[in-house]
Amino acid sequence: MRIKIIKPCSCSQPPVKTGSFFRKSDSKYIQRWKCPICKKTFSAATGNLCFAQKKRRLNPLIQKYLLGKVSQRRISIFLKINRKTVARKVIFLGLKHHLSRINYLEKYRRQKTLKLQFDDMITFEHTKCKPVAISLLVEEGSRKILDFEVSSIAANGRLAEISRKKYGKREDHRRRGWEKLFRRTQSIIDEKAHFKSDEYPLYADVLRKYFPNSTHEQFKGRKGCVVGQGELKAGGWDPLFSLNHSAAMIRDGLGRLVRKTWCTTKRLDRLRDQLEIYIDYHNRVLTPP
Ligand SMILES: [Zn+2]
Repeated sequence: MRIKIIKPCSCSQPPVKTGSFFRKSDSKYIQRWKCPICKKTFSAATGNLCFAQKKRRLNPLIQKYLLGKVSQRRISIFLKINRKTVARKVIFLGLKHHLSRINYLEKYRRQKTLKLQFDDMITFEHTKCKPVAISLLVEEGSRKILDFEVSSIAANGRLAEISRKKYGKREDHRRRGWEKLFRRTQSIIDEKAHFKSDEYPLYADVLRKYFPNSTHEQFKGRKGCVVGQGELKAGGWDPLFSLNHSAAMIRDGLGRLVRKTWCTTKRLDRLRDQLEIYIDYHNRVLTPP
């Protein structure tokens, strides 16, 4: 594999070799380079996403465990590493797969997509009194998850009053989330695209704002067919199958989204990181090319 050398200065002369060092974390010799003009030294590792990592050998393994519903605490026991190391790896892998997903979407810039489905998946942070919406945009047919957004929402039903009493008024950021998502995806979706969703009143409104020339079909919400898998619908053919099936796969793939679990989300940015890790894998490996 050719390693791209990133020169940290903008001097005109090419860098010269200046020794090497042994990197213990993956048992590799790394070439050091020097700029003949400003004398700055750097190596093939400079600027790499894994720069300064001491446990880089474990990255692929941790990713596998995270995608296999293993809790962070159990991963730390399996691999004999500290819990904080695992927590830091979630952030690193989140960034890595975010970049990978953006890269994957490049092909949609050349050929914009025409058929989409979207909806919110509900989970929570810390307690059911603090629900969170995961807004998902899926390409119909291929089931590729093009984009997502995580927004806090207010509790409703039986928990609404308890939630207000205990944690105060909780703001609803769902509209803001969908606005961000549609603004971001304007470059990969055809302006005359066809969208499908359920009848949640907010959807038509936000969609019209960012895709005024698109068509939008809304379907009545349906009951789930399996307890704890509300996304898989009972009663035969589901018009929102691409979306619901992808959502069900997310719920099954990430420990913290399985119902009645001990794994819960404590921070929304970490939920985002784990979604990035899952969605990149979903798009590249789990769904047909
Ligand atoms: Zn220089």
